[in-house]
Amino acid sequence: MKRKTVDLLIENTNELVTLKGGSRKPLVGKQMEELGIIKDGALAVKDGKILAVGKTSSVEKRFRAEETVDAKGKLVIPGFVDPHTHLVFAGSREDEFEMRLKGASYMEILRKGGGILKTVRATRQASERELVDKSMKTLDTMLAHGTTTVEAKSGYGLNLKDELKCLRVIKKLNEKHPVDVVPTFLGAHAVPAEFKGDTDGYVDTVIDKMIPEVTKQRLAEFCDVFCEKDVFTVEQSKRILVKAKESGLRLKIHADEMTSFGGAELAAEVEAVSAEHLLFASEKGLGMMAKKGVVAVLLPAAAFSLMSSKYADARKMISLGVPVALGTDFNPSCWVENQQLVIALACREMRMTPAEALVGVTVNAAHAINRAHEVGSLEVGKKADIVVLDIPDYRFLGYRFGVNLVEKVVKEGTLVVDCERGIMHN
Ligand SMILES: [Zn+2]
Repeated sequence: MKRKTVDLLIENTNELVTLKGGSRKPLVGKQMEELGIIKDGALAVKDGKILAVGKTSSVEKRFRAEETVDAKGKLVIPGFVDPHTHLVFAGSREDEFEMRLKGASYMEILRKGGGILKTVRATRQASERELVDKSMKTLDTMLAHGTTTVEAKSGYGLNLKDELKCLRVIKKLNEKHPVDVVPTFLGAHAVPAEFKGDTDGYVDTVIDKMIPEVTKQRLAEFCDVFCEKDVFTVEQSKRILVKAKESGLRLKIHADEMTSFGGAELAAEVEAVSAEHLLFASEKGLGMMAKKGVVAVLLPAAAFSLMSSKYADARKMISLGVPVALGTDFNPSCWVENQQLVIALACREMRMTPAEALVGVTVNAAHAINRAHEVGSLEVGKKADIVVLDIPDYRFLGYRFGVNLVEKVVKEGTLVVDCERGIMHN
């Protein structure tokens, strides 16, 4: 039989984690332990897509390639999907990290004009070009750690002009960088200084001015809101989300992060695609989310970064049938680009198993950003977003931490990271 020539073969894996079967619906409960592992597996890649997946012996019989990656002794998985990042901002807040170490709380820093508001001032001053250059570097770091798709929120502009600027930056990043970037409008991230004491006035601006312009210019797929005590009430959040949905945006909510506030209930009520954080979500709210299939995006690095001992109750969510995904929450107060660290934290602090955590950073994360039809698992027809790790099996992902285990990253069929050669795009 004549072998068909393809662009790339990855073969001889110790373990190939396919996550087969999770494309249509997110994995829940016991399904989160089913990784679809092929021992001594191989992948054939053509035109940026996966053409075949199977045992090395059978894939080799059917295909030959110019470029072959020998993954002997290695783990091969789908590229990580990071479903929650605040990718675009200017400046940094290492000073506040030091203040927090000396006892200041997040809300105290915010009331003093620090926190989000400090980053808003810096981001408003920055040019589009500066923001693109800075975020390109962040995406390089994410890619080097195996992330091939990210969600990116606006939310440090907090006025029409600068929110649009940040969303244009996200659009440009998606065009320029190999990592796919999914845009979320988060105009309701905080109340800007010029609306201090008039949260309703700002909510009106988000609804009447920002959402219409964002949708007219097609700059976002999702709308998110920070529903939290002293930020936006459930009522205000709902007004924003209802308007966003009417305008054709899909919904996300920062819910129940610091207080039990009814965010999970609201996420289910408005049929959000995902609800984020959920540290204080009520059992009732979680039950409602399970029923509606709202993905819980858990962000253990945020709690770790804030030095909190409180983490989301992932075990309860999994037992209730809530689909669980994991993200970095990359932002100026949680500066982490690495989903491998998130896995390690999810295992240790939330008692997720390595298998559940791996589902959380791949196929379920893809569902959280409406990309499960093209990424998140290694199946025929999907994008060839593939990571080769220098570990023999998936359990090492939670077990070894603090170093980058990635050896190679393939993005849409092209080898873009090789630990011996660095990042190879542009
Ligand atoms: Zn966030």
